[in-house]
Order: sequence, then C-alpha cells, then structure tokens
Amino acid sequence: MATIGFIGLGNMGRPMVRNLLKAGHLVQAFDLSPDACKEAAADGAEIAPSIAAAVSGSDAVITMLPAGDHVRRVYLGEEGVLASGAGDAVLIDCSTIDVETARQVQRAAADQGVQMVDAPVSGGVGGAEAGQLTIMMGGDDAAVERARPFLEPVSRLIVHAGGPGNGQAAKACNNMILGITMIGVCEAFVLGEKLGLDHDKLFEVTANASGQCWSISSYCPVPGPVPTSPANNDYKAGFTAAMMLKDLRLAQQAAQQNDAATPLGAQAQAIYSMFNAAGNGDLDFSAIIRFLRGQDRP
Ligand code: NAD
Repeated sequence: MATIGFIGLGNMGRPMVRNLLKAGHLVQAFDLSPDACKEAAADGAEIAPSIAAAVSGSDAVITMLPAGDHVRRVYLGEEGVLASGAGDAVLIDCSTIDVETARQVQRAAADQGVQMVDAPVSGGVGGAEAGQLTIMMGGDDAAVERARPFLEPVSRLIVHAGGPGNGQAAKACNNMILGITMIGVCEAFVLGEKLGLDHDKLFEVTANASGQCWSISSYCPVPGPVPTSPANNDYKAGFTAAMMLKDLRLAQQAAQQNDAATPLGAQAQAIYSMFNAAGNGDLDFSAIIRFLRGQDRP
C-alpha cells in the first residue's frame, strides 16, 4: 500500500481516485471545490486542506487538472507542490496540457532533484471509471518506471513515449487524428444521406473497407450502427466538443512552435471553434455531424 497525493477531483480525477483506493492505496486528496472534496471523502479518500498536506508523506503525487495554467499554478506556485517540498515523491501530471508547460514544470522539478513525468490519458470518463485508460508517459526512464505502478490501477496500457513532454506530444497527435477523422466520417455520412445511402449500409461498407477508423467502428456519429456511441443518446457527451477544441488548439500550438505543416488539423480546429461558438461545447464532439447538416441543437 502506498500513500498518494491526488490533486484535481473532477470528472476524471474522482473515478481515478476510486480505483486507487480499490487497489488498496491511501489517497490524500485536494481540490479547490468543496463539493468535489466531499464526494471524494464519501468514496474513502482522506481530504487534505492544502496542496502541502496532500504532498506530505506521499510516495507519489498525481494531478488531474483542466489546463496548463492550472498545472503551472499547482506545481510552481508559492504554495504549490515544489514549494511544499515534494520530498521523495514521484510527480505524475495526468492533465492534458501543452508540451512546453509539461517540459518547463519537469525542468523545475529536476532542478530540485525531484522525479516527474507527464502522463496524459485517453479513454474518457468511462475509461477512468473502468480503470481502463490508455496512458502516454513522457519522462526519463527512471522516473517512468517509478511512476508506472501508481498508474496501473487506472489503466489498461501505459506507453513510454519518450523524454519529458513526449506524453503530451503523443496525446496532441492522437487527438488531432481523432478530430480530423470524426469530421471526415461525418462528411461521408452527410454525403451518403444526400445520395440516398442507408446509414447501416454505409457503416457496413466503411467499417470493413479502407475508410475504416475508430470514429466509424467504435463511435459512429449516426444512431444505430454502434449502440454505445453518443449518437444514440442525443449526443450527450462522452467527450465534449469543448474538450476536442481544447486538444486541437494544443496540437496547433505545437505545430506552430515546431514549424509542422498540419493544414487539416488547422481546419478541424476552425470547424470545432465555430461549433463551440454556436453554443454546442457541452455536446459530444460527434454532434459535429448536425453542424455539417446545418441543423440546430438536438
Ligand atoms: P474537470 O474540470 O472536471 O476537473 C478538474 C478539477 O481540477 C476540478 O475539480 C477543479 O476544481 C480542480 N482544480 C482546478 N484548479 C485547481 C487547483 N489550483 N487546485 C486544486 N484543484 C484544482 O476536468 P476533467 O474532465 O476531470 O479533465 C481533467 C483533465 O483530463 C483535463 O486536462 C482534460 O483535458 C483531460 N481529459 C479529460 C477527458 C474527459 O473525457 N473528461 C478525457 C481525457 C483527458
């Protein structure tokens, strides 16, 4: 049994904490939201009154925060993790943030002799609840091997993607593919509708032909062919369009900073930003099909 400091008890953090508790770890949990703390306490976590208290005596500190600003504040702030003296704990940031911030925070940790990894996740709230996340880790070999056992109770696969920041790099690339393919699949279904093609027939062909991809076979954006996809539930998220826009922006930021040509990624970001601006950010990202049809919210 280990002691784990856990900071950020939101949609993803809370089920991750539940799985760490189930694995027999002691969790010292901290969040700015009193409601989030109350819920984690009901699950069996010890609530820490501050970041310092969450870090104190921990073997590992895991953070699951909204964005890079929050991560900088929590690790580098005056009362943050590093100022609290992380001791011998290994630091594991599971938030999805920009590569540069991930590298900056890991450099600051290394300057204090503290091991840290970036470890963004894929699999959404369902994956977090089931302890079946896919995790992409960036960091040096020793830090990654130390961090790995603390993430095993929440994951089905952990890939060491390379040095500091490379977990975030892999996440940005993966979600850029996802945004682009979802729009492509939605365009094909809208074209199929105009041509008089039945949804089920188009699914049967594309799921078994060269157009096959996750956005069709696991997350088909029309009701029917994949019963678990949000299309069958009025596009209730799942993975929100707002989150997809955030991730596409991170990919574009990385592309610009590193002079990578990503014209389809840029186009996907533009399409999702229009969809969000029209008030659809809370819907599942596959609801972009309605936008392509010119439909209003469901
Ligand atoms: P969320 O907004 O539900 O939770 C974030 C939590 O962090 C909140 O409870 C908030 O109060 C807390 N927080 C913010 N600032 C804090 C601070 N300074 N100190 C302590 N707590 C603080 O977000 P989420 O959906 O759990 O997502 C977390 C991260 O996981 C994001 O980076 C997101 O991109 C990524 N992610 C989310 C999903 C998903 O489907 N929700 C999937 C994969 C990855």
